[in-house]
Amino acid sequence: MTHSPRTPMARLPAIDRLLRLPQTAALIEGHGRAMVVAGLRAAVAGLRAEVAGGAEPALADEAVLGRARKWLEHASRPSLGPVFNLTGTVLHTNLGRAPLPAEAVAAIAAAAGAANLEFSLDSGRRGERDEHVEAALRRLTGAEAATAVNNNAAAVLLVLNSLALRREVLVSRGELIEIGGSFRLPDIMARAGCRLREVGTTNRTHLADFEQALGPRTALVLKAHSSNYRIEGFTAAVDDRDLARLARAHGIPFVVDLGSGSLIDLAAFGLPAEPTPSGTLAAGADLVTFSGDKLLGGPQAGIVVGRRDLVERLNRNPLKRALRLDKTALAALAAVLRLYDDPDSLPRRLPALRLLTRPRDEIVALAERLRPAVAAGVDGAASVDVVACDSQIGSGALPVEMLPSAGLRLRPAVRGGAGAGALAAAFRALPIPVIGRVRHGALLFDLRCLEEPERFLAQLPRLGLRRS
Ligand SMILES: *Cc1c(COP(=O)(O)O)cnc(C)c1O
Repeated sequence: MTHSPRTPMARLPAIDRLLRLPQTAALIEGHGRAMVVAGLRAAVAGLRAEVAGGAEPALADEAVLGRARKWLEHASRPSLGPVFNLTGTVLHTNLGRAPLPAEAVAAIAAAAGAANLEFSLDSGRRGERDEHVEAALRRLTGAEAATAVNNNAAAVLLVLNSLALRREVLVSRGELIEIGGSFRLPDIMARAGCRLREVGTTNRTHLADFEQALGPRTALVLKAHSSNYRIEGFTAAVDDRDLARLARAHGIPFVVDLGSGSLIDLAAFGLPAEPTPSGTLAAGADLVTFSGDKLLGGPQAGIVVGRRDLVERLNRNPLKRALRLDKTALAALAAVLRLYDDPDSLPRRLPALRLLTRPRDEIVALAERLRPAVAAGVDGAASVDVVACDSQIGSGALPVEMLPSAGLRLRPAVRGGAGAGALAAAFRALPIPVIGRVRHGALLFDLRCLEEPERFLAQLPRLGLRRS
């Protein structure tokens, strides 16, 4: 073969020839031909750009294949995967809210293939998918009936659209909530086809305000739990019992969106009290909605419990079909509800409750044990000390209540070290990304939610940080 003095551009390898190389066969075996072609094209395109910029990159086949291999590794990494949530927010919406118990994970796997989702094994005929959770929800809340949909926003949408289409819904001005940027009660109300009738003022709403607002066009009274904020000072809200009595006297339903809604009395576990669906129903609510993946500790779901005739109206609404749960979520929800049959074991078996009730002393001991290894891992790029901090429940539950906790504070080395942002980025780049929070120029890891310290420690050698 003759070697003409070709320009670097002309020496860029041809994709066809690279695809026929024996080394490429292994790549095709692992990634599939289409992905390897895309990887080789990306590698050659990168080289072309570098050559055009005047650089002289290595153009040997092995160098090009090396680039393609890197591209393929990156492209085949799953986008969604596990992280260590060391933010101090236990039910972190952006980090997947409640971690599922092993029982739920097993139930998801068991239902992954063909499953009796809507099939009665007794009669051999069509069944209802809600049957897998309804009895447990009724038992745990004392409700006549229950249904479950995709999330609590969907539950609220379904209730409003089923019971108040083209009619008025009364809501206290103090409860026109926005949660997590995308759930705004007034917007959901509009999309549900209802007219919002605001009652009272931001800080004070009285029963008389509701009485005056009630009219022939009123379809229901809605109360929304003020999840992620609290109005303090000169305030007044109407008691559930009074609202329930008023709604009943006018023959319209009283609906409560509890948001988190704990199925058990959290105060019994030393946590701040949160209203329960059973307590809210006992106070006279006709329907109560709440999330599956907040304090309940299960999969993403929206649960509605209450009067049978109203739940039947929800089930007859075509929107129910659009908002329904899939078999894996139903399997997980059923498995989590089963754990509630033995409430005493919940702090041990339900991760959300286990993390929320984790004793501070245990977290301090963990922080002290991990400190030297983390200091060695950051290799002088930061000083590491054990600090007291506060965890939050998250997902709008009890926003002002803090849980005393402990963690590690990583302060960037004064001169020439990585800043706190760069430290945080290095931890995020680990095989299981570690997510902390940057505050006052330091990176803070709240260790309340760290339950697998050995997996956390094992990846520290890959940090690749060094002072200057
Ligand atoms: C969280 C919350 C919602 C939304 O629930 P999702 O399950 O996230 O859809 C609605 N209302 C209240 C009061 C909430 O706290």
